[in-house]
Amino acid sequence: MNVQIPRGTQDILPEQAAIWQYIEQITRELCKRYQYNEIRTPIFEHTEVFSRGVGETTDIVQKEMYTFQDRGDRSITLRPEGTAAVVRSFVENKMFGWASQPVKLFYYGPMFRYERPQAGRFRQFVQFGVEALGSADPAIDAEVISLAMNTYKSLGLKELKLVINSLGDQESRTKHREALVAHFEPRIGEFCSDCQNRLHKNPLRILDCKKDRDHELMKTAPSILEYLNPESKSYFEKVLKHLEAMEIPYTVDPTLVRGLDYYNHTAFEIMSDAKGFGAITTLCGGGRYNGLVEEFGGPETPGIGFAMSIERLIAALAAESITLPIEHATDVYVVAMGEAAQDYSVKLVNELRLQGFSADRDYNGRKVKAQFKAADRANARYVAVLGDDELNKKTITLKDMESGEQQEIALESFVATLKKQQQ
Ligand code: ATP
Ligand code: MG
Repeated sequence: MNVQIPRGTQDILPEQAAIWQYIEQITRELCKRYQYNEIRTPIFEHTEVFSRGVGETTDIVQKEMYTFQDRGDRSITLRPEGTAAVVRSFVENKMFGWASQPVKLFYYGPMFRYERPQAGRFRQFVQFGVEALGSADPAIDAEVISLAMNTYKSLGLKELKLVINSLGDQESRTKHREALVAHFEPRIGEFCSDCQNRLHKNPLRILDCKKDRDHELMKTAPSILEYLNPESKSYFEKVLKHLEAMEIPYTVDPTLVRGLDYYNHTAFEIMSDAKGFGAITTLCGGGRYNGLVEEFGGPETPGIGFAMSIERLIAALAAESITLPIEHATDVYVVAMGEAAQDYSVKLVNELRLQGFSADRDYNGRKVKAQFKAADRANARYVAVLGDDELNKKTITLKDMESGEQQEIALESFVATLKKQQQ
């Protein structure tokens, strides 16, 4: 029996889980401020959602999906990313008809890709992402980028680099595409088989190839920025102007191409600039995908979004030596001596918990001294000491672990007194 965890997955143990919870809470708070609301789509979808929604020529669809036939002989895929499913749901639930537009959504949950596991690359990883559907205003592009940047900044990250590009509209892309084919075709034999396949299907993706990234033709490839028509150019300039107004520094990189097929206009990535971060520095990727809603049978609807993985975010925190302000304390630890007191403490911790305190007691038959040690380990704010003597007198001794002060309180009014003291 193989009892080890599958490759590319990880157990998140309680101490780590506290970090995960903290990050999730920050992202939820930020989404509320930016007015993005949560959407929860299934963990699996019909395979077609991703093959059509992510694009047949992408690495995700060609190599990385967890696809299987279910017992009803349907082809099912564990979701490798969030956008396609959100757009499927947008169309299915007719969100284009909702009164408030654009529809601003966020998701937070596990994604699955069959990749070669390495630092920052898992087979199950958690993505936080947003999608804004129904607006083609450059201001929403800037808003989405600002939300991604602020997620990192709110957690204390400083060494960030925003890289941005425009892929232009359909007309600009068509002209650029012709230029790319003309550029690569004569020497396409020197490229990998993926690139050879992409040449006529989607030559833009050659620029995103990891194997051939150092080929000399990559550096001299025609830049999309030279092929932007006036509308695309002014759209891009507007996005950049908004970023400047929000004091978000950026670098324009005309070679930046995002993985998905449907991107147009704005494309961006946020990288960690921290020393020792490792080879994979991209924390977040996003862009505009006008046309995707139509692909799913909906009306023409512009959209933009980003996705970031929490695993890479946590790696960036480690690279910048950031410790999150996670509080780990017990309000009250009940130390009980003697059987009657120990029995009573069962009811007492329950009462404390019902009144909103985090409370604990000993469950290992420890002596008093060891119970105090356990209270220390639990970082208890108060220790409540209950012995047979106290029980007879119907009192309890409360020790404030910060000041060291002790007071005797009537057992009956103990929880109420403690509540008052906390206010
Ligand atoms: P990469 O070039 O690193 O493979 P990608 O283009 O496949 O990234 P996207 O599909 O745009 O990535 O996903 C957005 C973000 O999700 C990435 O920037 C990264 O933070 C994260 N991510 C992608 N794949 C993984 C993975 N296998 N493990 C952990 N995080 C990942
Ligand atoms: Mg990838």
